[in-house]
Amino acid sequence: MELTKENFVEKFEERLETKYALDVKDATAYELYDTLCSLVKSAYTRKWRQTWKEYVNKDEKQIYYFSIEFLPGKMLKSNLLNMGWLETVQAGLAELGIDLEDLVKVEPDMALGNGGLGRLAAAFMDSLASDGFPGNGNGIRYKYGLFKQKFVNGYQVELPSVWLKSGVGNAWEVRRDSKAVMVRMGGHVHLEQKGDYLEPVYEDGMIIRAVPYDTGMVGYHNQHVNTLRLWEAEIPESEENKYPTIEARRRVEDLTAVLYPDDSTEDGRRLRLQQEYFFVSAGVQSIVRHYEKYGKPLTELGKHIGIHINDTHPAMCVAELMRILLDEKHMSWEDAWQQTVQVMSYTNHTIMAEALEKWSIQMMNEIQPRLLQIIAEIDNRYVKEWAGKVDGSIIERTRIISGGQVHMAHLAIIGSHSTNGVAKLHTELLKEDVLHDFYTLYPERFNNKTNGITERRWLQLANPSLARVLDETLGTNWRSDIKQVNKLLDYADDQAVLDKFGQAKRENKVRLAAVIKEKTGIEVSPDAIFDVQVKRLHAYKRQLLNLLRIVKVYLDLKDNPNLDMVPRVFIFGAKAAPSYRYAKSIIKCINEVANLVNNDPSIQGKLKVVFLEDYGVTLAEKIIPAADVSEQISTASKEASGTSNMKFMLNGALTVATLDGANIEIKDKVGDDNIFIFGLTKDQVYEYYANHGYHGSDYYYNDPVIHRVLDAFVDGTIPNISNEGHEIFDSLTYLNDDYFVLGDFEDYLRAQAEVDEAYRDRNRWNKMSLINTANGCFFSSDDTIKKYAAEIWNIKSVTEGKEVGTNAKYPL
Ligand SMILES: *Cc1c(COP(=O)(O)O)cnc(C)c1O
Repeated sequence: MELTKENFVEKFEERLETKYALDVKDATAYELYDTLCSLVKSAYTRKWRQTWKEYVNKDEKQIYYFSIEFLPGKMLKSNLLNMGWLETVQAGLAELGIDLEDLVKVEPDMALGNGGLGRLAAAFMDSLASDGFPGNGNGIRYKYGLFKQKFVNGYQVELPSVWLKSGVGNAWEVRRDSKAVMVRMGGHVHLEQKGDYLEPVYEDGMIIRAVPYDTGMVGYHNQHVNTLRLWEAEIPESEENKYPTIEARRRVEDLTAVLYPDDSTEDGRRLRLQQEYFFVSAGVQSIVRHYEKYGKPLTELGKHIGIHINDTHPAMCVAELMRILLDEKHMSWEDAWQQTVQVMSYTNHTIMAEALEKWSIQMMNEIQPRLLQIIAEIDNRYVKEWAGKVDGSIIERTRIISGGQVHMAHLAIIGSHSTNGVAKLHTELLKEDVLHDFYTLYPERFNNKTNGITERRWLQLANPSLARVLDETLGTNWRSDIKQVNKLLDYADDQAVLDKFGQAKRENKVRLAAVIKEKTGIEVSPDAIFDVQVKRLHAYKRQLLNLLRIVKVYLDLKDNPNLDMVPRVFIFGAKAAPSYRYAKSIIKCINEVANLVNNDPSIQGKLKVVFLEDYGVTLAEKIIPAADVSEQISTASKEASGTSNMKFMLNGALTVATLDGANIEIKDKVGDDNIFIFGLTKDQVYEYYANHGYHGSDYYYNDPVIHRVLDAFVDGTIPNISNEGHEIFDSLTYLNDDYFVLGDFEDYLRAQAEVDEAYRDRNRWNKMSLINTANGCFFSSDDTIKKYAAEIWNIKSVTEGKEVGTNAKYPL
């Protein structure tokens, strides 16, 4: 049935009645939300099945994107938008006296990720579907998402995020018991000769039932729906008697209970490794099983299947596929290896040494002894293959097992045909430095794929005010062809358009001011500069640099209350890993500075500091459209790409940036005049590391401004931070700060003074803002995924060339 307002209203009331035996006026927001989801889901389910059939009929190559995190946020509006339903449903609900926004509030954020890595995986799911690619996700259905953050006395407190609350559960998923697989872990293994192959014989250990929950990934206006498959751990019926106590059961069921709350350091280790093997094994088994169902030979696996390893967490895919092909399908090692390398590809997300995953041989053996045997054999053969061909020291440095540890990145690179970085600078650093040895061995495997974002969520949905300006200026084609946004450049000197730009930003700032007031009680003026830093809290991201500047401005204002400056509101959002002490100290200090500044009447509202609790996708959608200034100030070389930098830019914020990650590519697009660049370059940073020429204390003793600002952390000027203040003081001075906060401070102030000056000329500012939005279209995840498809995966779109217009609205 065609979706019209009338049809929708009728169907909605009908569904509410069959589901809940209720009239609209008697239903709660949850019941209405659930009814709407059910209607949406049954509409796209038909397309979901057709998409799958089309893949099978056309024998399309399939990609499976393995990621230990997916961070989609809320899905109701995104599904409505992609189905072409949003406006009609909004109008239909309004006729029933329902505000769609009230239903949206009911949906919990699906926060199965920490930050950028998980958000990228979610954006890729949206883009794979929207570009019509045969690509599916594979991950873990954590019972608890990333912790909920509260501030108590300025300290971060972590509460569980119960996104699967009974009743509110995940409306989008479908449990598929028929597709469950068994995953074997622990115990012992030995090999027995069986005819012409070796059969592994397992003793003890446990067998876990992996049950998939599938969620449709709805493509934008193309009737194309892919699958995100998340696995849950259960005790198989046959094993029930092995788990007589609740505690014993818990050990299995808790395997998929919590998301590891840190994406950059190692901690809480065994469970994490179990999680990795669990979703790898379940995913690879189900892929092979599905492949075989259609009777194709396993020697052609690589032609039909691609598995993408998103960061090293799923690197065991390499060994798990080998295990299945060898032990279960009795392929020769050579044939199995050839297929495996052809199937696998890998993305590296970090150059920070402490985040490059390693596991002790012993722990790997405890988790899955057969897998360790296979990894050891891959390692052996790797060493033999290169022996005599290259310098022995290169082999030692690149082999998978060394120093008693299994190096996951090495496994991923050796066992795949492609390794990519996520921004130009990052890929260069991989080639030159972190993975240089591998680059000398396999130069053809290395390539760059700069990250991207989905404009559907971050512009169309999050910023209706700006979207309206684009509609009025460019027509609506940009909504399905984001590159059209670049045509805005034709209007860079059009006064009317610039005014509308400024007006849209102001509307968003008024909205955010209301959110801030509601959440914190703090009043902020939409006439101030909204200066925003939102991202995970980490030393390398340098929230501290931002904080030092705030303290500097505060002290200046205390000296001179009449200081001529554009009022600024500093907005932070950031979670710290629960075990990351230093990051938590920084949170405490930001909160105390906020208290001090916001409650000092002599500041006269020229300076406000707002730290919003529980940063996540939904909060980001409210903050980013309202930002004037985007803080992207990581130490050069440390941020692989960044993606919030792209979201801000698309929403017309101007970036204050170091030459790091994708900031460089943003600068290249908008030009030096439309971005505020400062700070050490990657080469200067590397020079400091090489010659130990950086001395934090010198800045303290020689620079009176820095001296005064740092003193404020230890002399009581900032109250209630006697421990944290000293910790920060010491780290920046005597402990010589690896992130060069003080080294970049002066230049950062210079860049911020330029921001102040630029903002005073509203026309100039609006023009700069427009130029940023116009060039934001070059950082679309649709483009990024097209490059993965063409250059790494070799898959084709099945919807390209189909008429978009007639496909825009999914039928009701
Ligand atoms: C985009 C996004 C990130 C990534 O931010 P970076 O500044 O690139 O680190 C993290 N968390 C959420 C909720 C996001 O939406």
